[in-house]
Amino acid sequence: MIDFNVPPFVGRETEYMKQAIESRKICGDGSFTKKCNSWIEEKTGTRRALLTTSCTQALELAAILADIKPGDEVIMPSYTFVSTANAFVLRGAKLVFTDIRPDTKNIDENLIEDAITDKTKAIVPVHYAGVGCEMDKITDIARRHNLIVVEDAAQGVMAEYKGRALGSIGDYGCFSFHETKNYSMGEGGAILIKDGAKAEEAEIIREKGTDRSRFLRGQVDKYSWVSMGSSYLPSDMNAAYLYAQLEEADKINDNRLRSWEMYRERLQCLEDEGKVKLPVIPQECKHNAHMFYIVTDSLEERTKLIKHLKENGVLAVFHYVPLHSAKAGLKYGRFHGEDKYTTSIANSLLRLPMYYGLEEADIEKVCELIKGFYR
Ligand SMILES: *Cc1c(COP(=O)(O)O)cnc(C)c1O
Repeated sequence: MIDFNVPPFVGRETEYMKQAIESRKICGDGSFTKKCNSWIEEKTGTRRALLTTSCTQALELAAILADIKPGDEVIMPSYTFVSTANAFVLRGAKLVFTDIRPDTKNIDENLIEDAITDKTKAIVPVHYAGVGCEMDKITDIARRHNLIVVEDAAQGVMAEYKGRALGSIGDYGCFSFHETKNYSMGEGGAILIKDGAKAEEAEIIREKGTDRSRFLRGQVDKYSWVSMGSSYLPSDMNAAYLYAQLEEADKINDNRLRSWEMYRERLQCLEDEGKVKLPVIPQECKHNAHMFYIVTDSLEERTKLIKHLKENGVLAVFHYVPLHSAKAGLKYGRFHGEDKYTTSIANSLLRLPMYYGLEEADIEKVCELIKGFYR
């Protein structure tokens, strides 16, 4: 059986977790958490990075920092994971969904401006499959309309747009270290913050609304409740697991990119014959092989292909019921403009097995099965 996903494991995870346990400091903000934070800051060139318990919570923290209030509108693609939306719904915002581009499946930057009203507060680009959205255009729109940009870079760790790390371009960026993502700690994430004052605010909010971080640095004599907050700190044991992978980030990234290229080479003939469409990586983007997908002709064709693969021991999956058509999406948001691609892509896109250490023979098998299906 070829699994769709296998969580990454590079070797030193257990040793580092043991170190964390033996240090007798397993709560949040221990030495491994700090190492992960610094690694992200250096690698992405962002001012401040803070590990969180998930990308979902990083997005929630970003929505608080962005001061989203009831009645505010937030623009995002409908073709995304529910957490992108929930973070803003929890603050009382109304969601305005727009269509995606057929090539990258990212929010169509040319449709954003038309969706802006006097209530719009933020734009949330989602870097689908670790391929960057058209950030120059999006940040320009945000600047002209005085909007906040929150990048959902859950899938974008180690990927770039015009030489800049995804997650470091907008006001806030959110990473995921869930077990299905390129780098993992089981459940986990990080928030990237551009502004210094907001970074201090974030430290307080994620520490239950207290200034404990300042206390730990010796900047205040005692710590107390200074603002609203919650608990977004992961255990240092989980951070230890993640740090082992961040140390080997290039190795993981290269391995995934190699698998991605193998898929591309072997399936190119099907695209040339007009049977399926393959991912498109714009010139200005350096992707991270988070995902390899094919776009089939129809829902019916995809359903048959999934069955064919499954019967032959291969797990391939699809995702995203478009948020605007889901029960909660109807309640909390509206679709602006025409749904030209969102629903059709959601019905026809199929994700193939992709993980660190995926064997070449397995990729070969998957591709042969797909080619067999189309012949
Ligand atoms: C995985 C994912 C999330 C949620 O990440 P968690 O760490 O599981 O909370 C959010 N947005 C997108 C686009 C994702 O792919």
